[in-house]
Amino acid sequence: MGYDTEVLVIGGGPAGYTAAIRASQLGVDVTLAEKDAYGGTCLNTGCIPSKALISAANMAHEAGTAAQMGIDANPIVDYSTLSNWKSNIVSQFTRSVEKLCKANNISLIDGEVQFESDHTATVTRTEGDESNGTSISFQYAIIATGSKPISIPGFNYEDEPIWNSSHALTASSSPDELVVVGAGYIGMELATMFSKIGTDVTVIEALDDALPAYGSDVTHVVKKRLKELGVDLQFGERAASWNESTDTGQVELVTESVDEKKTYLSDRILVAIGREPISETVAPEKIGITRDDRGFIETDGSLRTSRDHIFAIGDVAGEPMLAHKANHEAIRAARSIAPDESSVSACAVPSVIFTDPEIATVGYTQEEAEADGYDTRIGEIPLRSNGRALSMAETDGFVRIITSQNGSIIGGTIVGPEASELISEIALAVQLEAKAEQVAATIHPHPTLAEAIKEAAENVRDKAIHSLNR
Ligand code: FAD
Repeated sequence: MGYDTEVLVIGGGPAGYTAAIRASQLGVDVTLAEKDAYGGTCLNTGCIPSKALISAANMAHEAGTAAQMGIDANPIVDYSTLSNWKSNIVSQFTRSVEKLCKANNISLIDGEVQFESDHTATVTRTEGDESNGTSISFQYAIIATGSKPISIPGFNYEDEPIWNSSHALTASSSPDELVVVGAGYIGMELATMFSKIGTDVTVIEALDDALPAYGSDVTHVVKKRLKELGVDLQFGERAASWNESTDTGQVELVTESVDEKKTYLSDRILVAIGREPISETVAPEKIGITRDDRGFIETDGSLRTSRDHIFAIGDVAGEPMLAHKANHEAIRAARSIAPDESSVSACAVPSVIFTDPEIATVGYTQEEAEADGYDTRIGEIPLRSNGRALSMAETDGFVRIITSQNGSIIGGTIVGPEASELISEIALAVQLEAKAEQVAATIHPHPTLAEAIKEAAENVRDKAIHSLNR
């Protein structure tokens, strides 16, 4: 049978466009469909705009708090200009993704794709488009439809004062007062960012601590910094309802804890309680593609769904919902359809939170490793012993390396400036099964933050030089 396309990729985020480009590079005829904006969540309303705003907020905050270095500045943030600058970055990047797809001979379809039968799908385009409702036949399909913010009953994102992360990242003005519901990574990043540009921020979290995937040794550093910024952190409270306050023109959030109700006034309520997969848009049930009870499309070890010729990758295929995991799965799915010579083995997926200071982890924590039967060795260095951290006045945090009994690096945690950049060295060590002594024997330039990784590796064998060995 002749198909309109060999591979139909549904969704143009980091999972979809990466799979499309790689499959095309491997000589396959590819069609990529996107219903909204190329680049998906990551480029439009996720990683890129959030990190652009975080960088700008860091710059304003650093300039405003540099008096001890003899720098006297009182930065004024013009949020509308800042927002335009961020939007320009986003559109530059999304345009370049579209160009790259075209340059790689990928056919692009603007529209929403739904499966009709095993090898056909319908494309719903914008109303009035004469090709609306056309059918496309494919040999293989890759579902890369991503995820969306979870909502709380009664908190409707259509209501102006109720924001999700997309609203927060596309607003042209910043609120004077903001309540963030949820102290996961998105809530904590955005709370930090808004606080640094002068918004009065309160964070409400139902659990007893922020960032539940991390231990208190990690979260206390970030919470301490947030408190210094003046952020009010409230744990053990659940957002119950909200209403417009007629007296102040603000919104009132009502929270409930075990024994009391409380109210908080603000200009906006940002709900950041997690994300859920977008799997319903492709009508998976029509062709027997199975989903788990959270809506994630179920896949096997090679990312095939319950239908052998259809793959699912990225956020829609499960946790961790991270862009680099989406990328990695995209390459693997493309290679399953059009095998190439290079090898792509399973990897430890790093995880980064762009709070202040940044948090980055890869591989095992000590607890996880021991639960899996490892006899661990730990090397840990406080950043206050690192010359570069001192010279940056950024000494809160640490580098920790976890090894197995034979010294192979199996995980690491970094809390500190540039943790997001530094973690790749530990990720490489985990991937190559490097030993701590090999990292310790590697010459690291001085003075750099990366020297703390070398020192932590030395500390595994109690041989750190610039810090007392534990
Ligand atoms: P998406 O990027 O969501 O793309 C899916 C695309 O599919 C969308 O464009 C959607 O319109 C399209 N689509 C859906 N259904 C259909 C259909 N039926 N037909 C056609 N098109 C369809 N990750 C990190 O790694 N680092 C970070 O720092 C980071 N920061 C983040 C900050 C925020 C505020 C948010 C919200 C997310 C962040 N993420 C981060 C997560 C990251 O954005 C996602 O993991 C990543 O975008 C997932 O890529 P994806 O391609 O699977 O899905």
